[in-house]
Amino acid sequence: MKRVLITGAAGFLGSHLCDRFIKEGYEVIGMDNLLTGALVNIEHLFPLEQFSFFHHDVSKFVHVPGELDYILHFASPASPIDYLKMPIQTLKVGSLGTHNLLGLAKAKGARLLIASTSEVYGDPLIHPQHEEYWGNVNPVGPRGVYDEAKRFQEAMTMAYHTYHGLETRIVRIFNTYGPRMRTDDGRVLPAFFSQAIRGEGLTVFGDGSQTRSFCYVDDLIEGIYRLLLSDYPHPVNIGNPDEVTINKFGEEVLALVQNPKAKLIYKPLPVDDPKKRRPDISKAKEILGWEPQVTRSEGLKKTFEYFKEVVNVD
Ligand code: UDP
Repeated sequence: MKRVLITGAAGFLGSHLCDRFIKEGYEVIGMDNLLTGALVNIEHLFPLEQFSFFHHDVSKFVHVPGELDYILHFASPASPIDYLKMPIQTLKVGSLGTHNLLGLAKAKGARLLIASTSEVYGDPLIHPQHEEYWGNVNPVGPRGVYDEAKRFQEAMTMAYHTYHGLETRIVRIFNTYGPRMRTDDGRVLPAFFSQAIRGEGLTVFGDGSQTRSFCYVDDLIEGIYRLLLSDYPHPVNIGNPDEVTINKFGEEVLALVQNPKAKLIYKPLPVDDPKKRRPDISKAKEILGWEPQVTRSEGLKKTFEYFKEVVNVD
């Protein structure tokens, strides 16, 4: 049985990855410091012999007994309000945490896949974003702690690949959504669903003309799984190119939730908020034979089922 270590295991993406690797017959070792993750996302795995869990902060030295075949580094605060609240932890987990896991991968002869992000492109000056674009990031702006940690993470990972010959994979993840997102994580989808279900105003930042391209979580996990098992060491975008304005996205949530008390309201745009974002996924198509299968209307319906259960209505 192959052994895989997943950091950020109790988070949104980490927990879905744990499920996928368990399903594929791996032994899964989950690690999380529970800063933004929640055990409820993985509690169904605790009875399984194939699964174990370490409560640990990967920015400190990481020890895992026994052999490891793969490591997936998904630990990090990942929403703008989280990394604004925890700037130092965000920088540390992307930099020191990555360094520790690279060291662990080297010691174990394991392959390491790191979770990078479309944020490495910053507020992009080209559209859509392909992997050769170097980005437009403000290093000292409020989002810089996340963006620069992820950029350093990529640089460090490539250095271990070229200098030590370590097997590494880099996925650049675009906006992803689905069950197990935290209702209060401040990202647009949890915010809009929670507000619509409670009959509050949906807080559109700015004039709502900025765009994002949302990928359903199952599609993303499939892309990551294929990338890990591929032999491609350079960054690959994984995301859904179906681009939408935040205004239209809000209208779609309103149409789905059907709460007559909910409507769009407008709030100031956060500093350095990217104006446009859409992945160019030519590489993922060519190298991994991957493209998203779930449309936004299907994905939103599935996600609504989850939020109906978890949003507290006063
Ligand atoms: N946004 C919004 N209302 C919210 C939260 C976010 O209008 O309550 C906007 C935000 O300004 C951005 C987009 O939605 O333009 C996506 O924000 P999110 O925090 O989900 O992720 P980002 O892509 O900015 O990292």
